[in-house]
Amino acid sequence: MNMFEYTGSVHIHSVFSDGSGEVTEIVRFARELGLDFIMLTDHNTLRAKEEGFEGFHGNTALIVGCEINDKENCNHYLAFGVDKTISTRVPAKDYVRMIKEAGGIGFLAHPHEKRSSHKEYPPYPWTEWETDDFTGMEIWNHMSEWMENLTEENKYHSFVHPLKSIKMPPQETLETWDRLSQNRRVVGIGGVDAHAHKVNLLGLMEVEVFPYKVLFKSIRTHILLNENYDFSISEQYPRFRDAILNALKNGRTFFANHYLGDAEGFRFAMVSGTTVYYMGDEFRLEKEAEIKVSVPGSAKNMVRVLRNGVLFASSEEGDLSAVITRPGAYRAEVLRGNRGWIFSNHIRVL
Ligand SMILES: [Zn+2]
Ligand SMILES: [Zn+2]
Repeated sequence: MNMFEYTGSVHIHSVFSDGSGEVTEIVRFARELGLDFIMLTDHNTLRAKEEGFEGFHGNTALIVGCEINDKENCNHYLAFGVDKTISTRVPAKDYVRMIKEAGGIGFLAHPHEKRSSHKEYPPYPWTEWETDDFTGMEIWNHMSEWMENLTEENKYHSFVHPLKSIKMPPQETLETWDRLSQNRRVVGIGGVDAHAHKVNLLGLMEVEVFPYKVLFKSIRTHILLNENYDFSISEQYPRFRDAILNALKNGRTFFANHYLGDAEGFRFAMVSGTTVYYMGDEFRLEKEAEIKVSVPGSAKNMVRVLRNGVLFASSEEGDLSAVITRPGAYRAEVLRGNRGWIFSNHIRVL
């Protein structure tokens, strides 16, 4: 199967909620960095969509969703493919179901966020685990990890080098993802949570925390489509958006920390007989199947395949292949040193 890879940035706030950037400005930054798409998620509003910003802007597509929360400001939920947002008085369990019923998709945002050291910035974790209607989870969130690692001692370094402090998705989130994936497809995505807040540093100068342009070099979501789209034909936009949302729903996606290298071309597949299965797929195991992981570039990496969250195979020799004889939820990850680089979605073998 011929697949076309589109790379973008997910989870972005603009002036329509608590971000500092105008939508046109944010799209311009994304274009300058060569992103194929960005997915805007202002808090509880779809204004960017209502005001007609969705569509192709040069070589970058702007897809508008929103980040919904409950009345305690917890259970942040990234929703896409819907035409209206939902009141913050609605409990999380209900909005997760309502998004699904409306034909949309949704991801638990920063589900295990912890920020004990900053009273002024409380964490917003996911607390409503009695629901199974969500499409997936935001496994990696730049902003959450950066905030969590922030200490009095490293804060100036962290401000100056916002990309260097990003190491790994939270272990708890990875474990939850691997556990839930044994029962059904749970799609993992990576988000930046860009706001470009302006803060006053040391009372000396106003600095922008994580300008959009910097964050667009951080965690990226790569999506594989069956078709190529011509961004110069604006009428193709709705089909492109639907294809992106559909691929996300089906788990045909991986995410990577672009700061460590361009992950374009990474593939995780399984071959059973003459059929090839890709990320997000499920199939019944005949006798055995072969795992194939291919990693772009020539730098030294550690490639790992996990089965139900437990290390199953690894390689330091670039690509990896291995034979499986047991069912399970398999995913691949690529590490560079002690830092996570690429994370695939699961292939579920039944
Ligand atoms: Zn949030
Ligand atoms: Zn957010």
